[in-house]
Amino acid sequence: MHSGCHYQQPIIAQPWFLPSRLVLSLQLHVGAPLKDLNTFHIEARAARLASAGSVSDLIALSRTAEWRSGPRLILGGGSNILFVGDFEGLVVRIALRGIEVVGENEHAVLVRAAAGESWDALVEWTLAAGHPGLENLIRIPGTVGAAPIQNIGAYGLELAERFAELEAFDPQSGEVLRMDRAACRFRYRDSIFKSERRDLIITAVTLRLPKVWKPVVNYKDVLAALQARGQTAPSAADIAAIVAALRAAKLPDPSELGNVGSFFKNPVVSAARHRDLLEKFPGLVGYLQSDGSYKLAAAWLIEQCGWKGRALGPVAVHDKQALVLVNCGGATGEQVLTLSRAIEQSVHSRFAVELEREPVVV
Ligand SMILES: Cc1cc2nc3c(=O)[nH]c(=O)nc-3n(C[C@H](O)[C@H](O)[C@H](O)COP(=O)(O)OP(=O)(O)OC[C@H]3O[C@@H](n4cnc5c(N)ncnc54)[C@H](O)[C@@H]3O)c2cc1C
Repeated sequence: MHSGCHYQQPIIAQPWFLPSRLVLSLQLHVGAPLKDLNTFHIEARAARLASAGSVSDLIALSRTAEWRSGPRLILGGGSNILFVGDFEGLVVRIALRGIEVVGENEHAVLVRAAAGESWDALVEWTLAAGHPGLENLIRIPGTVGAAPIQNIGAYGLELAERFAELEAFDPQSGEVLRMDRAACRFRYRDSIFKSERRDLIITAVTLRLPKVWKPVVNYKDVLAALQARGQTAPSAADIAAIVAALRAAKLPDPSELGNVGSFFKNPVVSAARHRDLLEKFPGLVGYLQSDGSYKLAAAWLIEQCGWKGRALGPVAVHDKQALVLVNCGGATGEQVLTLSRAIEQSVHSRFAVELEREPVVV
């Protein structure tokens, strides 16, 4: 097992030649529809679409003219992407598979999952295998490989807290790097993969799941549900069931109503700014952070501006969760952006707080 020290190292070198069989096994689809590959169900096309089921596929793809000549987009489950037009380059779907226990000591179990596995299926797998620790993150859509990109989080837990290391293909060098938590620079819905290392393609993630498990119950809705059930010593399965039920009650199912979950991040403000805002708006919902700043509930700000349940054309603010924008049918990415900008303006003129978008706009 690795210590918490910062490392970033290559684990395989680029082979000096590539068997032509690998190149031939890759299929490039031309003008491929993306509507079913993004959970907002926005109509868009990719000039080229390929699927990578292994690191060898990625190496082979990185040597194609299509890869080198134009823009490229790595696509997982499409649950955090907003397409605002066709993509004039190569879209690579990540389809690497496999989940296994790769290490264990008296403190923790290490579980490694390939990037193309479903995140939710991984959570279920760990729980069924008797390795709790991810239960608060159950039902988050998307792939394992995308989880570190925005350091997914929910119900009082972030990926970073269970993260051991990841493997990422570096198209520049042709190497696969191993990166520990420090190297990934995780922050609230952020990581190095959203800035300096956008070029890396995550191929596998290893999680460190604690042997001495304690439920994470600092989130008020989870606490309230436990009290309502009279559970004082919940199991990981109990927490998973509570979180799954809370999510099902609040969040629209993308297969029925296109969405990408929270459209805005919760804005973080200084203690002084929080005090000022609280004086003006006594109902303000904010959570003290370990560094003394406050995370404001963006949903509350949006609700106060009267947006909850309102629609602008075919895009609406979900009536049960003001952070979620939904595609009521046939919406374009631009229409989603128009509504999101109107919300940002309202919140800014009322509270002088900037809202920041969570999904990646492509
Ligand atoms: C109903 C719903 C609820 C949600 N709830 C939550 C929640 O509670 N917490 C939360 O944090 N998020 C939530 N999300 C957002 C989303 O599920 C996560 O951000 C998820 O990690 C995205 O995974 P994906 O595979 O769909 O990524 P995609 O949308 O396919 O990609 C997202 C970004 O990551 C990049 N990317 C994807 N895979 C890789 C890879 N292997 N290597 C490098 N880059 C890659 C893409 O290029 C893109 O920039 C929710 C979304 C929905 C629809």
